[in-house]
Amino acid sequence: MSENILALANPMLNMVFGIAFLILWRREPGASWIAIISVSYFASAAGFFIFHLTPDPNGIPAVVAMHLFYSLGTIAMVWGIGTRYGQLIPHRLYAFIAGLGLVMMVGASFGADYNARLYAANASYGLILALGTQAIARKAGSELLDKAILFLLAMGAFQFFVRPLVAIMVQGEMTAVEYRETPFYAVMVVWLALAAVLMALILLGAALTDQTKAVRDDAERDTLTGLKVRGPFETQAIAMLQRAREEDVPISVIVADIDHFKRVNDIWGHQVGDSAIAGFGDLLRSAIRSTDIAGRVGGEEFCLFVWDCPAGPTRKLAERIRTRFEHMQIEGISDGVRLTASFGIAQWEPDEGYGRLFARADAALYRAKQAGRNRIVSQDEGMLLAMGPHRQGPDMRRARV
Ligand code: GH3
Ligand code: MG
Ligand code: MG
Repeated sequence: MSENILALANPMLNMVFGIAFLILWRREPGASWIAIISVSYFASAAGFFIFHLTPDPNGIPAVVAMHLFYSLGTIAMVWGIGTRYGQLIPHRLYAFIAGLGLVMMVGASFGADYNARLYAANASYGLILALGTQAIARKAGSELLDKAILFLLAMGAFQFFVRPLVAIMVQGEMTAVEYRETPFYAVMVVWLALAAVLMALILLGAALTDQTKAVRDDAERDTLTGLKVRGPFETQAIAMLQRAREEDVPISVIVADIDHFKRVNDIWGHQVGDSAIAGFGDLLRSAIRSTDIAGRVGGEEFCLFVWDCPAGPTRKLAERIRTRFEHMQIEGISDGVRLTASFGIAQWEPDEGYGRLFARADAALYRAKQAGRNRIVSQDEGMLLAMGPHRQGPDMRRARV
């Protein structure tokens, strides 16, 4: 009886986790990795059910079905975790390894010794997990959660290789029926249950962490531009400076303000003004890398903290944004009229705090406005290097309304 309960623990556990991940995924349908993990747990549950409930688990049909479900479970586990980290998984290669395992398993099933079959199956799961762990390690972060996931994957791969070897050493040759009566088999069942629970708990933790982060992130974003609002922007910028100090990385700051914006509102109305602000936000988001931070720090004033960026590339980045905005057609604004923006740049000096750094970039912006707008002034290099065409922005007073 106790053996039956033990046997049912694995399929039941895997099914419960399959359902749990399915529910989590329904809450956050965008997180496809959670759905893939759910498939992984359901597939493993199916494999275990066949193993424990079929009248002839050693017959070829059961062996084939079990192996297909376990392989799907293993591949989906690696695929799901890889998806969370944005790491593409070569599923065709993994399916090929599973296929090879199947051929070897079926071949080994004709022999009396169970060990050969055991090894063929385990080696294919182990290889898929080992390759998957190595691929995911390239993208995984360094948080405790990421390390725990990698550790469990690596342990999974390791045990698939070592367990059958230990079985051979401890038990010697045996048939499938004998195998199920060994203490080794009982240990394996408990181990697999434990590993499934641990991995599921950590992945559930990861899914919940992602969802909380997404909710917090949404609350910190300005609805018009999708950029960070001032407070969270500053918090993130201060954290970036701290990291830059530790890693000795150059940081630059760009502050931008749309020119003559009051006139835009006056001539075309507040709604068109909003479209212009949203357009500028889109432009900033598409111009920066994922390591940079962009914020809407005022009505039509924006700030970029650019990671690992010396003076030259920063000026090029600002220039790219300036020219793109100058050519952007904004819905509701008369044809032929284009808006412009002015930019101030400052390079971070080690030991400088957020306040002073921002103030220097803002002072440069002020000088860009003074010098005629639609240009870039770099704080560090002074007025002489002010860039941009020395003409006024479009004269909106003469624009057709
Ligand atoms: P300058 O070239 O010197 O920057 O001139 P400006 O007219 O752009 O002056 P300023 O930057 O001081 O003007 C900001 C204006 O932006 C004032 C305010 O009416 C408008 N504004 C602020 N927030 C919003 C917003 O969310 N939507 C719209 N439509 N307008 C806004
Ligand atoms: Mg302005
Ligand atoms: Mg302004």
